[in-house]
Amino acid sequence: MRKLFAIAALLIIGSDLFSQVQMKPEETEDWSRKPEMVTPGGCNMPPSDAIILYRSAGDAEKWSDSKGNPIKWKTEDSLTVTPRGGVIQTRQSFGDCQLHVEWRTPSEVSGSGQGRGNSGVFLMGLYEVQVLDSWENETYYNGQAGSIYKQHIPLVNASTPPGTWQTFDIVFTAPRFNEDKSLKTPGYITVFHNGVLIQNHVELKGPTVFIGKPEYKYHEPKLPLTLQDHTNPVSFRNIWIREL
Ligand code: MG
Repeated sequence: MRKLFAIAALLIIGSDLFSQVQMKPEETEDWSRKPEMVTPGGCNMPPSDAIILYRSAGDAEKWSDSKGNPIKWKTEDSLTVTPRGGVIQTRQSFGDCQLHVEWRTPSEVSGSGQGRGNSGVFLMGLYEVQVLDSWENETYYNGQAGSIYKQHIPLVNASTPPGTWQTFDIVFTAPRFNEDKSLKTPGYITVFHNGVLIQNHVELKGPTVFIGKPEYKYHEPKLPLTLQDHTNPVSFRNIWIREL
């Protein structure tokens, strides 16, 4: 009996080895998609295949207010919120993307909590990555800089002092909807704040809401990116995006 088992085992191992030997190394080579050559940006420069959303005043025309009119924000080398100038949005729509945004809260500190250097980067105009002066400024943790507002606390606080330029590098996967407009798959987001991972592929619970629980509602696969006017003069510069 023992011999029989030994022979059976040898046969199984043998056939496995045989199929491995039969396989050629070429059979596991994937030639289906050649990655395109891209020149990395480095030193604050966008990579070669990025869509520039704001680098200088000339890029203001890529943005509009919520009604499609020219924006009322200050447009110089950076874009600055004009309090009550309203949210601004890109004229182009985006879905899955890699987004780079640099932002600066006012060096002159005024207000506290949510009232200090508040703005926001809204993917698809719906999903907010919070911009806030979170340097020695405590607020609810799922509302501080780099939070997915009222949904996810950042892993760490990578904030630098007010008046300094900070970066967000965001990887966004848009939610998908079924034909009957029900949710198929939720959205996901990864955020690096000043180069530090603070949101690691977290699941979006729905569009950002100030009051109550978020809930998905059908929307187009691509929508404009928006920046929030929370009445604090926050600045943005060097905004670029890569569609995925
Ligand atoms: Mg905000």
